[in-house]
Amino acid sequence: MAELLTLTPPNPFDVALQCETDTGIATLPLSQELSFGSWQRGIPAEYWELDAEELTRRIRMARATLGSRVVILGHHYQREDIIQFADERGDSFALAQYAAERPESEYIVFCGVHFMAEAADILAAPHQRVILPNLEAGCSMADMASDPDVRAAWAELGEHFGGTEDIIPVTYMNSAASLKAFCGENGGIVCTSSNATKVLQWAFERGKRVFFFPDQHLGRNTGHALGVTLDQMALWNWRLPNGRLGGLEGEALDRSRIILWQGHCSVHQRFSLTQIEAARAKYPTAKIIVHPECRYDVVQAADANGSTAFIAKYVAEAPAGSVIGIGTEINLVSRLAHENPDKTIFCLDPVVCPCSTMYRVHPAYLAWVMESLVRGEVVNEINVPDETKLHARVALERMLALK
Ligand code: SF4
Repeated sequence: MAELLTLTPPNPFDVALQCETDTGIATLPLSQELSFGSWQRGIPAEYWELDAEELTRRIRMARATLGSRVVILGHHYQREDIIQFADERGDSFALAQYAAERPESEYIVFCGVHFMAEAADILAAPHQRVILPNLEAGCSMADMASDPDVRAAWAELGEHFGGTEDIIPVTYMNSAASLKAFCGENGGIVCTSSNATKVLQWAFERGKRVFFFPDQHLGRNTGHALGVTLDQMALWNWRLPNGRLGGLEGEALDRSRIILWQGHCSVHQRFSLTQIEAARAKYPTAKIIVHPECRYDVVQAADANGSTAFIAKYVAEAPAGSVIGIGTEINLVSRLAHENPDKTIFCLDPVVCPCSTMYRVHPAYLAWVMESLVRGEVVNEINVPDETKLHARVALERMLALK
């Protein structure tokens, strides 16, 4: 078993990393990033060789020129060289709401991934324009639920049950705008990792079954917390051809209360029971806290689980001297370690790869979109079609109405 990574101040970012695909979470010039070949290549060559210091200087200048015309949002999983510019940091929904409440900012630069920028565009005022610094910053979980696959599954479910009136579709925030619209059109709702319990309760008040996508783990963990047994949860394999009922027997579907899409987060699915056992052996007093996108057995073995906001609050409120092992993305864990020098904070996973798609928002892209705005050019704008926006808003508003 590899040694657990312990992040201790003052500089938790200097730890040796063991990830195959990255040399660290410190910023290298774009041309030296191993994965640059698969990132957005349209960025002008003048940005390719700039180091972190020069990029910081240029972004700062653009920021000062644009003033309150621009708001920069930074998701918790962004690197420090991006977060330092964020007017607000948080989870995807909180950030989209924050920008919508600042109408003086005509440009919303969303340092996160594609579905987050779409959500910001759905909630933004008509004059606000949303920009994603790197268009290749997607989310592998969101990509596991495509609009045609979900609609085909819905049709199959309708055929099997003789209608879909008793099935409530619930999409996690981490999904394409078109799927939020699908939920809006079909009596469904959106959830976040903070409110999934309330959302499932809402859904069960309206139907016999919930069709939950794209994250099976959040759906399973939330269902379990509400008393739904594992054999009342059916797992829909979207990789199978249409007509195969997602690989389910009719009987499994008939007794199901939740039909879970077989999607997952590649970052959170890495956390394991073995890591928790190793952490407890090394730090017997440690509290283990994980994100609900982790596997069921991991969540069951943890002391607490919750959203990124919950994890940040848990750490901030823990007494000095606490030892806390965390199962979530490394940039957030590193930041929490740095900001809580009186506590020992460590990541459960010794191989600390960042979320590879969040990582695509390299400061060179932020410099490019900001300097373009200074010249009056909008690059990498995210535009959700009006009709999609309309229906997606319905599903988001149902969620917002839950107190
Ligand atoms: S951490 Fe997971 S769910 Fe979040 S953006 Fe990365 S891949 Fe998607």
